[in-house]
Amino acid sequence: MNLLEHALKILVKYPLCDHCLGRQFAMLARGTTNELRGYSIKLLLTMKAHLHIKEGRREEGLKILKILASNGGFQPAENILNKYGCRNVHGKIKCYICGNIFEETEEIVDEIVKKLSEYEYSTFLVGSKIPGEIAEREDKLRSEYELNLGESFKSEFNRFLGKIVQKKTGREVSFKKPDIVVLVDLTRKKVEVESKPLYIYGRYRKLIRGIPQSTWICSSCGGLGCPECNYTGRKYPTSIEEIISKPVLELTMGESAVFHGAGREDVDARMLGRGRPFVIEVKKPKRRFIDLKLLEEKINENGKGTVEVQSLRFSSRMEVRKLKNLAPYTRKKYRLTVRVDGDLNEEMLKRLEEYFNGREIKQRTPLRVLHRRADKVRIKKVYSVKCRRISQSIFEVIIECQGGLYVKELVSGDEGRTKPSFSEILNMSATCLELDVLDVEGLVS
Ligand SMILES: [Zn+2]
Ligand SMILES: [Zn+2]
Repeated sequence: MNLLEHALKILVKYPLCDHCLGRQFAMLARGTTNELRGYSIKLLLTMKAHLHIKEGRREEGLKILKILASNGGFQPAENILNKYGCRNVHGKIKCYICGNIFEETEEIVDEIVKKLSEYEYSTFLVGSKIPGEIAEREDKLRSEYELNLGESFKSEFNRFLGKIVQKKTGREVSFKKPDIVVLVDLTRKKVEVESKPLYIYGRYRKLIRGIPQSTWICSSCGGLGCPECNYTGRKYPTSIEEIISKPVLELTMGESAVFHGAGREDVDARMLGRGRPFVIEVKKPKRRFIDLKLLEEKINENGKGTVEVQSLRFSSRMEVRKLKNLAPYTRKKYRLTVRVDGDLNEEMLKRLEEYFNGREIKQRTPLRVLHRRADKVRIKKVYSVKCRRISQSIFEVIIECQGGLYVKELVSGDEGRTKPSFSEILNMSATCLELDVLDVEGLVS
């Protein structure tokens, strides 16, 4: 292919701006722009035509210059035409593909910069919705002239806007993980910005019993309010999720928050030790450079000694996935107070410790959660059991086991659904009175 002749043939029929001509050859040369490619092609053609005139092929030269001026909108060609007395060719064109959109982006850019100014961000990405006709016209041109070295209008347009916005805001374009995505809808001349979620990792401690991890709607009224829930619409007045979310949303000015826990403890269990890992996902945050020490203080103030957090740091969607997938396998440590129907002695407790050391447990879904979980058998491991007798019929036990084991049922046996169990080995009925989670193994150090 003779590139210059090919380009000239296109310009004979179609008026094209520098961008749209250059874009047809976008895969040639690097570290430049389509605008410069288009300009350079037009300039070389102009020089060639000028040379024709100087070498005595005046008509041939003028013919090319007229094409470049009338369909290329090319000022240098018009200048030479003027010099040779042709004054009726105008250098202003309407580009066949884009309709000169690249010259009319100022308003769009101003709108983008204005919308972005409401947010804190360090990276962004521009995307766009392009009128179908633009792609159609470009496709038509490409098949007509067998052009296959170009890129799409959309990618050039996005990059073009991105560069201008980058210059105006001083923020970086990121293709992989932008803080904000700017969406330019050219069909409706509208600009929207979407702030990407912010993820914050931490560990929570629950120091009193009776707080669920997530909001618990009253089952009698479904949240509308009824005598049973004292017209609050909930079974429990607050939740860990709410206690943590409120200050998070205040500081980030986010639209909403989603709480992801690494598993959950029962409502009546405390969560002690280092606390349970969680990630809170903030949707559409306006602030993202927040002081996590300050956030920690605000959450702990809001928790009023019932719930507190520590080890806050910024996190990612990837970590949420890990947290969810790995939680059922990570090691847990519990402290239980157990009451038995009968008399305890040290020997029995020693036997219990020995028996459950490294023991595999077959556990069918407990009766108490059967209404919301599928009935299946889980095999989980108990690593160790340490007992301390407190009275004739009460002892304290520290259990280390695999995540996902229902420890209350390990004690009671759950009518034979958990095997073996403390009840079975002690040969008397055993019940868990109190439960604390002492440790949840972290996924990331
Ligand atoms: Zn164009
Ligand atoms: Zn209710």
